[in-house]
Amino acid sequence: MKNALIVLPHDPSWDDARLAWNLSADQQPAAVALPETAEDVQAVVRWSRKRGLRIAPQGTGHNALPLGSLAHTVLLKTERMRGVEIDPSARRARVEAGVLWGEVSDAAAEHGLAALAGSSADVGVVGYSLGGGVSWLGRRYGLAANSVTAIELVNAEGELVRADAEQSADLFWALRGGGGSFGVVTALEFTLYPIAEVYAGILFFPLERGAEVLRAWRRWVDTVPDEVTSVGRFLQFPPIPDIPEPVRGKSFVVVEATSLLGKDGTDELLRPLRALGPDMDTFATIPVQQLKHLHMDPEHPVPGHGDGMVLSDFNDAAIDALVRIAGAGSGSPLITVEVRHAGGALERKAPGAGALTSIDGQFLMFAAGMTPTPGHGAAVRAHVELVQNALAAWDSGRAYLNFAVKRERGERLFGDLTYRRLQTVKAAVDPDDVFRSNHPVRLPASEVRKAA
Ligand SMILES: Cc1cc2nc3c(=O)[nH]c(=O)nc-3n(C[C@H](O)[C@H](O)[C@H](O)COP(=O)(O)OP(=O)(O)OC[C@H]3O[C@@H](n4cnc5c(N)ncnc54)[C@H](O)[C@@H]3O)c2cc1C
Repeated sequence: MKNALIVLPHDPSWDDARLAWNLSADQQPAAVALPETAEDVQAVVRWSRKRGLRIAPQGTGHNALPLGSLAHTVLLKTERMRGVEIDPSARRARVEAGVLWGEVSDAAAEHGLAALAGSSADVGVVGYSLGGGVSWLGRRYGLAANSVTAIELVNAEGELVRADAEQSADLFWALRGGGGSFGVVTALEFTLYPIAEVYAGILFFPLERGAEVLRAWRRWVDTVPDEVTSVGRFLQFPPIPDIPEPVRGKSFVVVEATSLLGKDGTDELLRPLRALGPDMDTFATIPVQQLKHLHMDPEHPVPGHGDGMVLSDFNDAAIDALVRIAGAGSGSPLITVEVRHAGGALERKAPGAGALTSIDGQFLMFAAGMTPTPGHGAAVRAHVELVQNALAAWDSGRAYLNFAVKRERGERLFGDLTYRRLQTVKAAVDPDDVFRSNHPVRLPASEVRKAA
């Protein structure tokens, strides 16, 4: 085995090697593998299987919390696999497994192209795409998973295979939305879109105006076309130097939006929201790759906890419930409680779509806070749950894998029929359940009995 490919608990670099982006995940695997190539991944799979160990692939560890105990498991981190190739004429990207969204957005922008990147520059392309992928361009172009055109993966036998619409089509279907239960993805190919600039920004209002602003935003989203993707959000910035001076330590209700309609078309649409008189208005025409800063996500590892929900609606009663639990005067310790407008291409089933065809609800909620100490952790976890309880009446009955930090039942993530089909693919490609995902597709009961 190549030098430094496997790190073991007694090695000096152990504590660095086992870190996740979410610093509150205390990962204690049997070993950490740091492959640099697809061949290294094959070697790690064979090494692990020979020792009877399972394998948990990880890009960044943004969604490491639901993995749980990693006993008898090799944590296979792809962070050294960082190749990015852009084919401008085919409008296609090929990226290796450890590539981050910021890297692809910058590389594609050099050719006037954009990818369906998430809100954060340092989320991994692979984990995000395997879970669905809701981007700032999502209402126009759909889930990122459904722009994926080919996937290279090392399977349970240690073979490197390619899955696309023609070859290993079932596996290709399962990987696009079904998560990391089927092998170690070593590279992804996906479509890029001809977008160089967007009109985007944030309207900031005092948190005390939460109900009024969210109600206005809720009415507004019914008037906008698919070219506009927006978020209504409570933000309570901590008083730390990382946060820019004008907002440091302050609390807001904000509307963030991205538009493909240009300045004039969007200004016309924004009129009713601007009429509310925001304290700050940052809308401007920006290079599309700058969208990675719009949501103000932390761009380095942090300790945190959050969880999401898919909402069937976000009406006045839901807004009032959210304001009571997370708005001004609520004592909420959460830094962010956001509601993203879905719909548009995110709710239409794309032709040839993968396991996650669409988001089954009009809105996606995500609530999160920082957890630097166990005391903060308990308070944040309790408050995230309070937000979820307050919105329970608008729960769509489905969960979105990328925003699920608590373990969710497979049926809730995928729907009954899709989950059965995912289990069938899992049994075919990984009958010994070697690969551990943060949100696992479990073997069907009949296969578990056979293995026992
Ligand atoms: C700050 C922040 C912003 C976010 N913004 C968005 C957003 O805008 N839109 C959105 O949809 N989601 C968003 N998310 C959620 C994010 O998409 C998920 O957390 C996603 O799982 C992150 O992927 P990752 O590879 O970075 O994380 P990881 O924790 O490394 O991976 C998550 C899971 O993906 C699978 N996986 C990763 N790499 C591989 C591989 N090579 N082979 C097989 N399986 C693999 C594994 O099952 C792994 O457990 C955000 C999360 C955070 C914390």
